[in-house]
Amino acid sequence: MKAARLYGPGDLRVDDIAAPGIPDVGWVKLRVDAAGICGSDLHNFRTGQWISRSPSTAGHELTGTVIALGDGVDTVAVGDRVVADSRFWCGECAQCGAGRRHLCASLGFVGEVCDGGFAEQAVLPARLLHVIDAAIDERVAAMAEPLAVALHAVRRLPKTAGSVLVVGCGPIGGLAALLLSRTFAGTVLVADRNQARSARVARVTGAKIVDLDRDAIAAATGNTPLLAAVEATGSIAAFNQLLSILDDGSALAMVGIFHGRLDIDPNLLVEREIALLGCHAFADELPDAIEMLGELSEPLLALIDREIGLDDIPAAYERLSAGESDGLKTIIRMRQPVEPA
Ligand SMILES: [Zn+2]
Ligand SMILES: [Zn+2]
Repeated sequence: MKAARLYGPGDLRVDDIAAPGIPDVGWVKLRVDAAGICGSDLHNFRTGQWISRSPSTAGHELTGTVIALGDGVDTVAVGDRVVADSRFWCGECAQCGAGRRHLCASLGFVGEVCDGGFAEQAVLPARLLHVIDAAIDERVAAMAEPLAVALHAVRRLPKTAGSVLVVGCGPIGGLAALLLSRTFAGTVLVADRNQARSARVARVTGAKIVDLDRDAIAAATGNTPLLAAVEATGSIAAFNQLLSILDDGSALAMVGIFHGRLDIDPNLLVEREIALLGCHAFADELPDAIEMLGELSEPLLALIDREIGLDDIPAAYERLSAGESDGLKTIIRMRQPVEPA
């Protein structure tokens, strides 16, 4: 079978390898139906930061159909369509015991600590699989994981009045804008240097596009306070700019992955009572995100950038790393579309 495997920083190859055999006890073999490329895949490709095995099949945003069960598996059955939990949690540490699996002491991610979804087949522990409604389009199902990440970030924000600003219209920022547009009472604003991308997100979600500028934001919100924001760029410059724009007493959910270091006066956070909320993956939001897939199918499909095959992944990494995308999500689609009769 084909698999896109990461060998080291900047070295991703599509290899022809043996398909996995009978799954181990507690593990399940899937035919991968679709998988999404994530910003963290690109970060790993660029820096090699999280490469713990080489080569490893990348891809943690995946949906598939169960084709074989290891011994002892009774939570899924052959033929079930499933979405994978990307967090490879242990289930034994204090954080896991307290239900905070995203903060597991030995947390890893699918596609890093075990092979992931950029292959025709994948083998995963049954505990990471959630059965989905068979009617859900596989491209939509592949977006359940990033939707859970966005949902976690949105839920980390306090329920404030006023406006909310999402900086960065990549996958997580765009999905956060989509969720906020359905749940947030005030004005939802989006900002992105890539105008095609912010235009697409605004069109799909109804959010207002603004520049990262106090006057522009005051004009867009009718001077309502800006008390909540989602930082989804990972840009130090955007982060600093955002701090200067937020009103005092605000909260900032941080989901972007940064390259570089911050240099801020901590007293600024103290005196202005600005809360920085780190948001790592998701806590228990994946089942809720899966529940929303049917209702959000149309906007989710409208946010897809391109559909590609496994052979196209290295080129897609290059293209996305260069920032050449006007959509949110590149989907590797392997399940054959169902032709109308
Ligand atoms: Zn991801
Ligand atoms: Zn744990």
